[in-house]
Amino acid sequence: MGAMAPRNEFTEGFIDFLAASPTSFHAASAMAHRLDEAGFTPLDEKQGWGQVSGRHYFVRGGALLAWVAPEQLSGRAAFRIVGAHNDSPALKLKPDPGYTAAGWQQLNMEVYGGPLLNSFLDRELGLAGRIVERDGSEHLVRTGAIMRVSQLAPHLDRSVNDKLSIDRQFQLMPSFGLGEEPDIIELLCGQAGIGVGDLAFAEVLSYPTQEPAVFGNHEEFLASARLDNLSSVYPALVALERMTDSSDVAVLAAFDHEEVGSATASGAAGPILADALARIARGLGVSGDAWYAMLARSSCISSDAAHSVNPNHLAKYDPQTWPMMNQGPALKVNAQQRYATDGPGAALWQRACRAAGVPSQVFVSNNDVPCGSTIGPITATRLGISTVDVGIPILSMHSAREMCGTADPGYLSGELGAYWQGA
Ligand SMILES: [Zn+2]
Repeated sequence: MGAMAPRNEFTEGFIDFLAASPTSFHAASAMAHRLDEAGFTPLDEKQGWGQVSGRHYFVRGGALLAWVAPEQLSGRAAFRIVGAHNDSPALKLKPDPGYTAAGWQQLNMEVYGGPLLNSFLDRELGLAGRIVERDGSEHLVRTGAIMRVSQLAPHLDRSVNDKLSIDRQFQLMPSFGLGEEPDIIELLCGQAGIGVGDLAFAEVLSYPTQEPAVFGNHEEFLASARLDNLSSVYPALVALERMTDSSDVAVLAAFDHEEVGSATASGAAGPILADALARIARGLGVSGDAWYAMLARSSCISSDAAHSVNPNHLAKYDPQTWPMMNQGPALKVNAQQRYATDGPGAALWQRACRAAGVPSQVFVSNNDVPCGSTIGPITATRLGISTVDVGIPILSMHSAREMCGTADPGYLSGELGAYWQGA
């Protein structure tokens, strides 16, 4: 039994997207470029939308919402929503970040989300994000490899391999040069083409500069940063680009800030999706009671990376259910509703898998291991619509270098496309 999934065109496109998307801001921008090429029209949230049928999108910070809507809605039309998120755990630049220590140029950084901190050590990191000028204009910035957080040698810490503990303030600060007067803000402003005096705020995060790579006995694995959750965003993007006419409204919501709880203006717990649906419905002539009926007919597939079984840590998994790479996305189930999957949602998912002709499996937690959560329960709670949580199985979730199977993103894209197309 070898596997089955050497690199292919889909994988190559995914690698390009990963490389272009070091932060949520860059992911939203990369999505926008692709959607422009696929005939989508950008809309400005601050203006009236006018026509909302056809192919449209808008960007809010690190989030992007896109949809394909028919010219004429039937009385049975629904929203078919795919939710995902653009952000990942990282180190984030603090204000006035440069300082010196023992002749080193250092950067003062915060922890964004819940990274596997050790994976950020001994790794060449770059900086990327959004620079905002005093007049409100925004610029994306991205450096090459400029910094590193170096681990202490075992000679100086004999217990390091027994239990690694990392002080988040004093042992996570990257070094990016030698000598006096660190000039990182000048460097970022220079990238943005603005003067330092014009800078209002920098939302800049670390990113691992190592390129994504295919590996394994049969090239069946892909290693990269940010597979949680670009392994959902990219498959959904490709499926949306390929959408043909449908009687329902296909919506892709790629939120920001899932890794810090989603309760932000561009996160899933805010009104961004509900407001967009209301504006689309109004633009299509749906209002009053018909709006609530349309919501009640609607559904959501929340896609976020799942846990593949790790052969060195079997005790952490449900003893009967082991999600395997390259056997399709996992349907995520949890009795405490940390995942939103319910019966009608699971049925919808199975129809989509069957229509696409691709496999699926199940993830459920070991009862003694706390279960993570995702945007599914949040959107289900906000919108009250039937939701199903899925995601492709990955290993090393929240590491600076995660891994997945090369076949699974393509499978997921097929399933999401079948769902949008009416399965
Ligand atoms: Zn995630």
